[in-house]
Amino acid sequence: MNAAARREIFARLARANPTPATELKYRTVFELLVAVILSAQATDKSVNRATATLFKVANTPQAMVKLGVRGLKRYIKTIGLYNTKARNLVKTARLLIARHGGKVPRTREALEQLPGVGRKTANVILNTAFGHPTIAVDTHIFRLANRTGLAPGKTPRQVEEQLARRVPEPYRKDAHHWLILHGRYVCTARRPHCGRCILYDLCEFRDKAKYRDSRRLARRAAPRRALAGTRAQTPRAK
Ligand code: SF4
Repeated sequence: MNAAARREIFARLARANPTPATELKYRTVFELLVAVILSAQATDKSVNRATATLFKVANTPQAMVKLGVRGLKRYIKTIGLYNTKARNLVKTARLLIARHGGKVPRTREALEQLPGVGRKTANVILNTAFGHPTIAVDTHIFRLANRTGLAPGKTPRQVEEQLARRVPEPYRKDAHHWLILHGRYVCTARRPHCGRCILYDLCEFRDKAKYRDSRRLARRAAPRRALAGTRAQTPRAK
C-alpha cells in the first residue's frame, strides 16, 4: 500500500470519528491502568461491569493493597484469568506506592516493570493517559493491519514497528483508537463488513468483494459510535 493510500485511510477515519477514545471506563490514570490490566483476553464490556463496582471501593493503590488479593477477586471473578490478575494488581499497587509515590509512571521502562504490564499495556497507558503516539497492537489491529495491507507483519511487534513507520505523523496519536474501533466493529474477524466500510476502495484484502453484502450485519452488530467508521454515516472522500 502506498503512502497516499495510507494517508487517505487515516483522513477518512479521522473525519468519521474526530475524537476516538477507549471504551474502557476510567476517571484516573490508576483506574485506567487497572482496567487495561484486567482487559487482557477479556472484553471491555466485562471489564467495565466489574470496575463499576470495584472502583467504588478501591480506585487508588493504597485502597487496592488494603483490599488485598482475596478481596479483589470478589470483584473481578467474572473476568478471565482473574486469579493471576488479582495477584498482579495488588503487587503493582504495592510497587506504585514503594517506587513512584502512588502514581502511575510515565515511562515505558518503569511501566513494564509492573506485574501484569507488558509492552501492549504500556503502549495503551502511554498513548491514552500521557498522549504518546504509541500503538498497542491487539488482535483487532493485528488483523486489520495485515488484511488491508496497511502494515503487514508476522508478529504484533512487527506490525507495531510497521505502523510506527507508516502512519502519517498528524494521525499517530489517535491511530491506536481508530484502528481498534474499526477492527472491532467493521473489519471483524469472521465476517468483515466490507459492504459498509469507508476504506473499501483503499483496502488490499483479497476477499473483500466476497463480503460486500454484509450491510445488514454491520448495522446490527455495531453501536452507533462505531458506525461512524462505516460508509452510511460518512461520505466517501473523492
Ligand atoms: S474493506 Fe473489508 S477487509 Fe478491508 S478494511 Fe474494510 S472491512 Fe476490513
